[in-house]
Amino acid sequence: MPSKIQILPDHISQTIAAGEVIERPASVVKELLENAIDAGSSEILVELKAGGLQLIRVVDNGEGIDSEDVAVALQRYATSKIKTLEDLYTIQTLGFRGEALPSIASVSHMTITTRVPHSLSGTRVICEGGEIKSISEVGCPIGTEVEVKNIFYNIPVKRKFLKSIRSELRHALHHFVRLSLSHPSISFKLIHEGRMAHENLKTDFPLVRIESILGKEIYDHLKKLEFEDGEVRISGFTSLPVISKGNSDGIYLYVNRRFVKDRMIYKAITEAYRHVIPAGKFPIVILFFTIPPFALDVNVHPTKTEVKFKDPEKIYQAVSTAIQMVLEESPSRLEEVVGQTGKKEVPPSEKVQSSFPFREPWDPYPLLDSGMKEEEIPMVRDGGEPPPLHILGQIRGTYILCEGGGNLIFIDQHAAHERILFEKFKKGYETQSVTSERLLVPILIELSVEESFILDSAGKAFQVIGFEIEPVGDKLYAIRSIPSFLSQEDPKEVIREILDELSFLNRKGKSTETIDGILVTLACHSAIRGNFILRKEEMEELVENLTPFNTSATCPHGRPFFFILPLDDLKKQFKRK
Ligand code: ADP
Ligand code: MG
Repeated sequence: MPSKIQILPDHISQTIAAGEVIERPASVVKELLENAIDAGSSEILVELKAGGLQLIRVVDNGEGIDSEDVAVALQRYATSKIKTLEDLYTIQTLGFRGEALPSIASVSHMTITTRVPHSLSGTRVICEGGEIKSISEVGCPIGTEVEVKNIFYNIPVKRKFLKSIRSELRHALHHFVRLSLSHPSISFKLIHEGRMAHENLKTDFPLVRIESILGKEIYDHLKKLEFEDGEVRISGFTSLPVISKGNSDGIYLYVNRRFVKDRMIYKAITEAYRHVIPAGKFPIVILFFTIPPFALDVNVHPTKTEVKFKDPEKIYQAVSTAIQMVLEESPSRLEEVVGQTGKKEVPPSEKVQSSFPFREPWDPYPLLDSGMKEEEIPMVRDGGEPPPLHILGQIRGTYILCEGGGNLIFIDQHAAHERILFEKFKKGYETQSVTSERLLVPILIELSVEESFILDSAGKAFQVIGFEIEPVGDKLYAIRSIPSFLSQEDPKEVIREILDELSFLNRKGKSTETIDGILVTLACHSAIRGNFILRKEEMEELVENLTPFNTSATCPHGRPFFFILPLDDLKKQFKRK
């Protein structure tokens, strides 16, 4: 009887292995771009036809491959980038697994044409389904050109799973953008169907790269971020609260040069922006982490887009603190628009001394060495006092209309007051200065099963904010004290609202989320409503109180609290500009 267990023939095992690295045409684009970058190129061209389904061509001017090495490079686990197991932990290149070229070759028609600088001629290798068909000497420029045609021609099932040309192109573009962003000193071009789709020329001003990829609007609202805590160094950019995106595509994370996806870091970022940008929206964040190799495992995923941290909690804290620091320092859009403030000298970023067991902190956008002229750095402004806002009136008892520096500012009084109260209550909580007021007669409240469950699990949070609520029977509670900033009108209603808000929050969430949830509801409950006529002094007081809370442009629920009609727009309307 033949043995039940058999070793798979080479072509099957190769196809299985290739499937791990090459999922779609975009994976080829990524691997070839990474190889071109690793080869020290200064110019890289990507050409696609039919979103890469028909053709992917990547041309670079890097170090090339020696004629004797070309055939070797096509074998599995053939790499010039590591030699020993230890090298794996000090890796400086994007590639190291030696899998890309053989994987691509086994699922396509591939031609490599390459020349090293010291050789007068180059080499061309033609492959079909992983088999080398010919190797010849050719005349060609220094560098490497890899041409990949008819991807998955020999695996019809895979081809069937591919999406439309548009969607494949979009995937390829993601990789193109990610790698261009982290390598401003390399020129990247993308041609689709013979037309230049993207061109990022290498520049002496690295920030130009960000602007050309993300656009001026986003670029203008990014703040430089720098943070170091022992083994973790983070540098990059994070967006001011006035802009956000509907998805997380604007979050770019790089760990030791490698683009990665990491749920834990995403969470740290979205948490830092909670109550600052609208719920369901995402900030634009570009973070470059420099982490010593021993605190990291990069070899956990065939496409190398995931890494494992030795101490994830430390990374979470670092991201969270770094972003909060930026948000707390940022001028609000309100200040930015009304304050015709000049730009201040860029403070020299403190040089990171190498207590760091890594060669050099990796930052493609160092603030000082960016080569950018001071006045061209858009993100730093001086703290000069903005001119005061003049109240012009109230619209429908709901919006306050002001003028500042010639611009018109519309403020949503409820949302703005909510933000003021939220910050005030939060400060009270943080400095433990919330005072509690004892009710003369306790108020009884009967809750549903779910409400009482939430109250029991959040009990401590209620207490630190100044509530004293005691169970007195089955689902029956006595409210004995309330925070003194709350009116005594109807604590029952507030408590119900808080429990509603908390039931939305992740139960396993951190206690800070629970406290924030309570504070948000208290702020909303106590804030001036819309449709409520205010006296001029009341409006003035509200607007004055807004200024210190400049981290945010939204109420704690995430709705914007003001809208600006710039003077320039007004001029345009009257054809004065
Ligand atoms: P890896 O990048 O993990 O080493 P690859 O299969 O992608 O594995 O490439 C195999 C080897 O071929 C690389 O280690 C490198 O020496 C060489 N190589 C691939 N692409 C290029 C290129 N564009 N320029 C120079 N050398 C290259
Ligand atoms: Mg590679």
